[in-house]
Amino acid sequence: MAPCIGRFAPSPTGPLHAGSLVAALASWLDARAQGGQWLVRIEDVDLPRCQPGADQTILAQLADCGLHPDGEVLYQSRRGTTYQRALDQLVAAGHAYPCACTRAEIAAEHARLGLIKPRHGELVYPGTCRPTAPGQDGLHGRPARAWRVAVPQGPQANWHWHDRRLGEQQQALDTEVGDFVVRRADGLWAYQLAVVVDDADQGITDIVRGEDLADNTPRQQWLQQLLGAPTPRYLHTPLVLDARGEKLSKQHGAPALDTGSAAHVLQALRDAGAALGLPALPGPTAKDWLAQAVNAWPWRSLNTG
Ligand code: GLU
Repeated sequence: MAPCIGRFAPSPTGPLHAGSLVAALASWLDARAQGGQWLVRIEDVDLPRCQPGADQTILAQLADCGLHPDGEVLYQSRRGTTYQRALDQLVAAGHAYPCACTRAEIAAEHARLGLIKPRHGELVYPGTCRPTAPGQDGLHGRPARAWRVAVPQGPQANWHWHDRRLGEQQQALDTEVGDFVVRRADGLWAYQLAVVVDDADQGITDIVRGEDLADNTPRQQWLQQLLGAPTPRYLHTPLVLDARGEKLSKQHGAPALDTGSAAHVLQALRDAGAALGLPALPGPTAKDWLAQAVNAWPWRSLNTG
């Protein structure tokens, strides 16, 4: 079996909080429990949303918790040329096309077609600019803004995938997602493309991340297929909720993780372990706690892809 390589891929929009530590710890434990490597990638592709210095804070917080990357930290902001090459490949194969639509136009087209608005996330793109013949664009003379990848249509659009914790999953790529953006109208690379290209280049075999990201998986697996990249295994971890039942997040004001003392670090690891369903482990130091948590990691035996 290929050696396991896991990763933690934070967006540096602020320091780590209790919720992001769960994803960091889970990916670290999973890699360690499988005798593999653990990498860290700073997902600063959406630079305007990033907080200067947050990357260094996150790396220091991880180190305080005893979570040390096994290789160089990769920064998405430095990988534009690589992403462009992937987009060129998609365009050359006829899988990506330029799109001229603004948000308002997409909403208007949606209303005109009587499409259902999804409860979460973006409107499903109605395919306005999708070319109808090879070698043509569907722009009708309008200037291109973004680039989209065409999702499969027909029976192939009904995507099935396996999650090591959630089990069998399913999503209709055509009616639930639609052709999705890989390069944004503001020129920034979209998360979907960057994450797939980076996971492939870093040789990631196991993606362990929060459950809120699970519904991105079919889009990412589709891109892997189009780019000829291998499909890793997936494990989506439970989310930490705040008192109002909302996902703990920087946007909702989750406090920064306090790693200022050994006692705080140990408590933070215990809390993250509890969120992951680990039994109470005695410690007494963070290092001991981590060693015991690797042994107690419940997902190892389910690692069958
Ligand atoms: N950068 C993403 C986030 O912080 C995680 C991406 C991923 O793990 O695929 O939410």
